[in-house]
Amino acid sequence: MMSSVSSLPRSTGVVVDYATLWLEILRELAPRIPRSQFITWFKDTAILGREEGKLVVGLPLPMSLGWHMEHYSALTLEAAQRIDSTILQIVYRVDVGLKDDAKRTLNLLEHFPEKKRRKLPGKQEVRLAEGLVSKILNPRYMLENFIVGSSNRLAYAACQAVSVQPGGRYNPLFLYGGVGLGKTHLLQATGNAILKLMPTATVVYTTTEDFTNQVIEAIQRQKMEQFRRRYRVVDVLIIDDVQFLANKERTQEEFFHTFNALYEEQKQIILSADRPPKELQLEDRLTSRFEKGMIADVSPPDYETRLAILVEKAQEYELFIDRTVLEFIAEHADQNVRELEGILMQVVAQYDLEQRVPTVKSIAEIMEKLSKDFYKEEDLVGFTVPPKRMASFQDVLEGVSRYYSVSVQDMIGSSRVREILIPRQIVMFLLKRYLRMSYERIGDVFSKRDHTTVINAVKKIEKVLQHDPQLLREVRALEKELDFV
Ligand code: ADP
Ligand code: MG
Repeated sequence: MMSSVSSLPRSTGVVVDYATLWLEILRELAPRIPRSQFITWFKDTAILGREEGKLVVGLPLPMSLGWHMEHYSALTLEAAQRIDSTILQIVYRVDVGLKDDAKRTLNLLEHFPEKKRRKLPGKQEVRLAEGLVSKILNPRYMLENFIVGSSNRLAYAACQAVSVQPGGRYNPLFLYGGVGLGKTHLLQATGNAILKLMPTATVVYTTTEDFTNQVIEAIQRQKMEQFRRRYRVVDVLIIDDVQFLANKERTQEEFFHTFNALYEEQKQIILSADRPPKELQLEDRLTSRFEKGMIADVSPPDYETRLAILVEKAQEYELFIDRTVLEFIAEHADQNVRELEGILMQVVAQYDLEQRVPTVKSIAEIMEKLSKDFYKEEDLVGFTVPPKRMASFQDVLEGVSRYYSVSVQDMIGSSRVREILIPRQIVMFLLKRYLRMSYERIGDVFSKRDHTTVINAVKKIEKVLQHDPQLLREVRALEKELDFV
C-alpha cells in the first residue's frame, strides 16, 4: 500500500520498512481504541525515523501533539514493544506535510474497515421495486427518542401528525433549519413510524444528491418515462436537504412532475432544507408547491432541551454520567445538537481509554481542546464546520510559511535565527489577535513552549509594528491573505 521504502534495521537483523512496522503497531493499537477515535487521531501519521531505542512518530497537525502525548503515548509504546522489544521510547514530531500525503501515510479506512453492524449487511439502500431504491432508514431515529422543546415543537408535532395520517392535512411537509438541529432525525423517524403502522407502504427516503443522480442517469439512458413510472408506486417520498436543488434546472423540472403526480394522488411528501422555501432560489412553481402544505422550522435548542437531549443520549450510549457534568456540557455547548453528541463521544473515549469517570473538570478540558478557536478541522468526530469558514490556525501557519518561505516545521521547531524567529513570532501574534487562542495553547502548538515566551513574542511584534513600516506592510499583507481584515 505504502511506497515509502526507507528501511529500518532492527536489532534482530530483520529489515522492514517503516510503513510495515507502523501498520503492525497500529494493528495492535486499533482494538484498544474506539474506532472513530482511532481513525481521527491516527490518520496521516507515520513513522519518520528511528534513533536507537527511540521511535519517531510523525503527526500531521501540531494540535494532535498534546492529545497523543496525553492519551496515546503509553498505549503506542506498549503496542510498539509487542512488535519490537528494542523500542524504548516514542517521540513525536509534527510534520504537516503528512496531511493527505498518500505516499507517506497509510490509508486507515482501507486497513481498518468498519465492522458492519447494519441489519442488511453492507447495504445502504433497499430496493423497493424495479429500479426504485430508498436509503435505509436508521432505526435509531425514532419519534420516541426525539426530545421536544420550544425550538422544534411545531416540526415534531407535524411529523407526528403525518406519521399517523400520511397524505393528509400536512402535505407536503417542509422542515427547515440549521445544520445539526434534527431535521434528518425527524424525517427518518417519520418514515420509520409510517412503516411501523403500515408495513406495506412504499416509503422512499433519499437525498437531493441521490435524486439528482437518478435524474441524470435516466436522462443519459433516455429512460425518463420509466423513471416517472417508478415513482408512481411511491406512497411516501422523503427528500432530505433540498437546498441542493438550487441551480439544477433539469432536476427541478423532473422533481416538479414527480411532486405533482404524487401530490394529486394524495401521497405524502416530506422535505427538509437549511432555509425556508422562499430563500431556496428554486423555480417559482416549485417554491409555491412547497409552500402549499405545512412549513415548520427547527431552531437551536434552549438549555433545558439540550440537557434533556444529553440525558437521552447518555442513556443510549449507556453512559453513567453525573448530572452536574451533563449540566455543564449543556450550558457551554450551545451551537447545535451534533456538537453535544461530539462532546459525549469524547466522554466515551475518556471512559474507554482511561477508565476515568468524567468530571466537570475533565469535561472542561475536553471542551477547551475542542473549542472553536482551536479546532476548525472537519475531521473531528461529531463536529461540523462552521458555515462561515474562518482561517484555522493551520491556515495561519501555512500562510506565514508561504509568505516568508520558511517551513512550518522550522517555525514550530527551536531555531532562533532571525529568518525563522520573526515568522514564528508573527504566527503567534496572529493566532492571539485573530483566533483568540490562549497563550498556553499557542505555546502547546509550538513544541510546548512556555506561555511566557509566547507573551513576549506577541508583545514584541505589537511593539515593532508601531515603528517598523516594513514589518507593518508584511503583517497587513498576511492579514489580508488570511481574510482577517
Ligand atoms: P440535521 O439533519 O438538521 O443537520 P440531524 O438530524 O442529523 O441534524 O441531527 C444531528 C444529531 O443530533 C443526530 O444524531 C440526532 O439524532 C441528534 N438530535 C438532533 N435533535 C435532537 C433532538 N431534539 N432529540 C434527540 N436527538 C436529536
Ligand atoms: Mg441532515
